[in-house]
Amino acid sequence: MISSIESQKSQGNEFALYCDNDLKQIINEIIKESQFVVSKETIKEIYNKTNITQEKLIEIFIEKAKTFSSPKISEYRVGAVGVDSCGNYYLGCNIEFIGSTLDQTIHGEQFVVINCLKNGANKLEAIFVSAPPCGYCRQFLNELEDGKNLTICFGDGSKKLLSHFLVNSFGPENLGMKGGLLTRSENNIVIQNSNDPLIKQAIEAARSSYAPYTNSFAGCAIQTNDNTIYSGGCIENAAYNPTISPFQAAAVDLISSGNLLINIKNVVLVEGKSSKVSYAAQIESILKTINKDISIIVINY
Ligand SMILES: [Zn+2]
Repeated sequence: MISSIESQKSQGNEFALYCDNDLKQIINEIIKESQFVVSKETIKEIYNKTNITQEKLIEIFIEKAKTFSSPKISEYRVGAVGVDSCGNYYLGCNIEFIGSTLDQTIHGEQFVVINCLKNGANKLEAIFVSAPPCGYCRQFLNELEDGKNLTICFGDGSKKLLSHFLVNSFGPENLGMKGGLLTRSENNIVIQNSNDPLIKQAIEAARSSYAPYTNSFAGCAIQTNDNTIYSGGCIENAAYNPTISPFQAAAVDLISSGNLLINIKNVVLVEGKSSKVSYAAQIESILKTINKDISIIVINY
């Protein structure tokens, strides 16, 4: 990295010193448009208007991300900030579903990657974390193209490559895969298009899902009480197990847009009837823990 960050950093030291609360207020005003994605232009504006250091800015973003976390089981808040190759920042936090199984948990680093996918980031250069990434996340991050060279950064200023934390790793290259989950291309699944916006969005999510190992492309669209629609596709992993379900990806879309899971009204899942992997039972189960009245329609291609 982190040349883009370093150059931004050097631009912002001619202004008066602010106390932490003033800084937070200024930054909140600048980034009020989006809570979970901060563009490189906005980062530049923050450096121009304050004397903040990169370390302090990241600390504020991580603390901010933590406030959106939902650790209903662990009560342990995680915040993470990813930086793409252009210098845009992507926030993430951990989400847990009380009453569900622990494998449904979305980790902060996973949230960041889904956020990157949603917003079209093509390469994640670095990720700042409030705690060392767990083994599960190390494996998940290894699915990124050039993941081994992803820089993991800590609050004390130290940083190391993912390859340092994941030695002798098993990854996409072991299964003959090229590319990675941020550079995937659209899948040509055959399914009749629909005029229903919820179904349409679930189909689009399935088409852009990442399932290179099983070809079990699947997408999910969520409609909330205000009729807003959120969506996401599954994200497989070479090791299979840190795989994100299409509902989890759609839930991140919803949360990062400022909505609440409790507002979910309807859900559509699109998956293959002959696929080796089915998400239907798992999603039905997790929806019951949110609200038993949520309706789910499963459409098979
Ligand atoms: Zn983790």
